[in-house]
Amino acid sequence: MKKIILFLWVALFYGCEKPVEPTPEPTPEPPPVTTTIEINFDNDNNSSLMFQDGESIALLTSEERRYDIGQVLRVKAVDLTTLEVANFAPTDIVNATILVTIEGHPKPIKLFNIGKIRAHAVQQIKYPFIDGDTKFLDIDDQEVDLAQYKTTGIPIANVSFDFTGETDLIKKLKLLGKLKWKIKYHDFDPNDDPGNNWKDNIDAKDVRRFSGIIINLAYLFQAESTKTAFIAEPITDNNNVAMSTEQKQEVFKKIIDIPLFHCGVVVNVSGLGGGSTFGLANHVLKDYLTKDVCEITVHEIGHMIGYSHTSSMTYPSNPDKRGAVVATGQAYTIMLSRNEFPIRKNNYYKAVDFE
Ligand SMILES: [Zn+2]
Repeated sequence: MKKIILFLWVALFYGCEKPVEPTPEPTPEPPPVTTTIEINFDNDNNSSLMFQDGESIALLTSEERRYDIGQVLRVKAVDLTTLEVANFAPTDIVNATILVTIEGHPKPIKLFNIGKIRAHAVQQIKYPFIDGDTKFLDIDDQEVDLAQYKTTGIPIANVSFDFTGETDLIKKLKLLGKLKWKIKYHDFDPNDDPGNNWKDNIDAKDVRRFSGIIINLAYLFQAESTKTAFIAEPITDNNNVAMSTEQKQEVFKKIIDIPLFHCGVVVNVSGLGGGSTFGLANHVLKDYLTKDVCEITVHEIGHMIGYSHTSSMTYPSNPDKRGAVVATGQAYTIMLSRNEFPIRKNNYYKAVDFE
């Protein structure tokens, strides 16, 4: 009895001392939160590398390795359920979001995030909804359920892909989408003829270095500042007559709209160009991260859109030394000095390629 009284007394005492806890309001269960999954392609277990030493010329120059300059982070459907993710830039890309547009769905859908993809990495994966959650977000963060495709997959013709992201590099790579350039590496000398100006066997290092210069050249030409300098520059046509502002605007657009670059390596000369042919010598591929190379690269691009050596689209004019390669060369030099190019000495993944 005594013990019970003591207990009650203690209970009462503490009961009085203890502040009264308010009863928590019951909170409703939050709706399930859809998130975008992250996939990495950052080591030998989750990706392989393209353009590595020892690869066959057939593979280096294959049609499957052709890409749009605006899609250097390229995702394509291989079959109903499989995707290939490939990085055609010679630098790592981090924090990218892959978008898929599916016929019948009005908005692009965030399919997955890439934490990191290595320079030149390539990997095939299943669509994430095949083995995982079927709920995704579209670009306006509205939930989309892709359950209908879980067992069937999606016909290749019904999907297209894009990448997006907020990093400085991704923003610059996205700007290249202004250009129509398709890029393919090419062996112009399949019979190894010693009498021509083509390198007998294009190799992996050539392609690796080429994959950087082509991005930087595209970046040069997407820039409004380059366009402004080009249009302000005195440039002559194939009859050595000064072009009007309108003509120069048309010429600049022609460069933006070049449909295809067949990229090859030349010997004996610095470059060869015309039609879709874009040949550069090894010294150009070695120098472009540190020096203005427009004297050669833009000269060949001038040939690709139909200009001859009479026009100052190719060589600077005499005697005043003006023309396309001068204006673009100055723009290139400024971009180099500002460390502005997407591909730089400090982010190219194989320093040995420039030794
Ligand atoms: Zn020429």
